[in-house]
Amino acid sequence: MAADVITQASVTPVPAWYAKELGKNAYADNIGSMRLEWVVRIRTAGGVEGLTIANSYMRRPDASVASLLSLLRELFLGRKASELVSMNGKAVVGPGRSLEVAFREHGWASIGAFDLVGKSLDVSCVEMLGGPARESVEAYDSTLYFQDFLNPELGAGQCAMEAREAVQAGYRQIKIKTGRGGRWMLPEAGMRRDVEVVHAIRDAVGPDVRLMVDANFGYDGHLPLLEDFVRETAPDDLFWLEEMITADVAGYRALRTMVERHGSRALLVCGEVDRSPISPVWLDLIREKLIDGYQPDIVSQGFLNWLSIERSLEASAILGIPHDFGNGVFGVPAGVAWGLANHRFAVLESERSPSVIYDMDGYRFADGAWSYSGGPGLGISIDEETWGRTHARHETTVEG
Ligand SMILES: [Mg+2]
Repeated sequence: MAADVITQASVTPVPAWYAKELGKNAYADNIGSMRLEWVVRIRTAGGVEGLTIANSYMRRPDASVASLLSLLRELFLGRKASELVSMNGKAVVGPGRSLEVAFREHGWASIGAFDLVGKSLDVSCVEMLGGPARESVEAYDSTLYFQDFLNPELGAGQCAMEAREAVQAGYRQIKIKTGRGGRWMLPEAGMRRDVEVVHAIRDAVGPDVRLMVDANFGYDGHLPLLEDFVRETAPDDLFWLEEMITADVAGYRALRTMVERHGSRALLVCGEVDRSPISPVWLDLIREKLIDGYQPDIVSQGFLNWLSIERSLEASAILGIPHDFGNGVFGVPAGVAWGLANHRFAVLESERSPSVIYDMDGYRFADGAWSYSGGPGLGISIDEETWGRTHARHETTVEG
C-alpha cells in the first residue's frame, strides 16, 4: 500500500480547562470550568498524522461517536492524503474531487485535511492559505462572561479584577459579555449593569486596552435600552459591538444610526451564528454596509469555507473576524494560521485554555499577540507521553 493512503482515523474527548470558571452569557447558563475537545487524528500508512477537532459535529443533537466514526471512514479512509485538497504550488485552491459537499458541511474536517497534506508535503498551513500576510496575530481575551453573578459581593468589581488580570497576562484587547437584561435581569436593570461593568473595566485597565462588547442578542426587542447603552458607553471607546441584536437589516440600520448619533466609533460585527455562510440576511447587511465585521467560526467552517467567504468579502471593506470560542486549545493554531495568512483579519478570539496534549513549541504569545515559527501543517503534534498516560484509553479508532 502507498505510504500516503489514509488507513486510520480516531476520535477522543479531551478536557480543555479554563484558567477560571466562566459565568453566563445573555442566553446560556454558566460555561463552567472546562469544555471537551473532540480530538480527531487522521493517519496515513506511512505514519503521517493530521489533526482537527469535531466539536461542532458533536454539538448536533443527532451526533454520536458512532456516527462521527462513520463520517471519518467515509471522508478519509482509503484516500490518498494528496487527493484531499486541490493545490496550485503550495496554495490550496479547493477541495479534492468528490469532497466539496462534505468539506462544506463539515468544515472542521477540512482543517484536518490541511494539516495532513501540509505535514505530508512539508508545507505550513500558512503557505497553504496563501502565504504570510503578517508576522503575528493579535488576540483578545474572550473570558469576561457575567462574572459578576459568580461573585455578587464584588459584582462589576469582579469583572474589573479579571480584566486587570488579563492585562497582566499580556492581553491588550478584552471582550466583555453584555446583554444581562435579555434573560437574567430585568431589561433596564440589565442595561444598567452592562454599563456599570464596561465603566468598571475601562477604569481598571486604562485607556490603551482595546475593549469590545458582545450581547449575544440580549438587546432583542429593546432598541431604546440599546440606545441608552450606546450613549452611556460612548466615552469608553468600545472597539466593536457584537450581536447586540439578531441580524436584521432594519435593526442594524437603527443601531448604525444610534452609534453615529452618540459619537461612538464602535464597529458593528456579527455572523457567528451563520451556519452556511454567507446566508441571505448577512449578504444584505454586507451589501448595505450595515456591518463592519463578519464572524463565522474558524474551526466549524474550516479553512476552505473561510477561503470562499474571503473571496466574497473581497470587494467590500468588511473585516473577516472568525469566531473562535468553544474550540479549546486547538482554536489557537487554527486561528493563528488563518490570521497570519489573511490580510483582512482583525484579531484572534482567545479562550485562554493552556495546552495539555499538544506540542505547540512553534507558538509563542507575547505582547498581546501570537507568533509562529513555522513547521509543516498547523505546526502542532500530540504529546504522545501525556496521550498514552491519560487519553489513549478513551480513543476510538476506525481502520481500513
Ligand atoms: Mg459572540
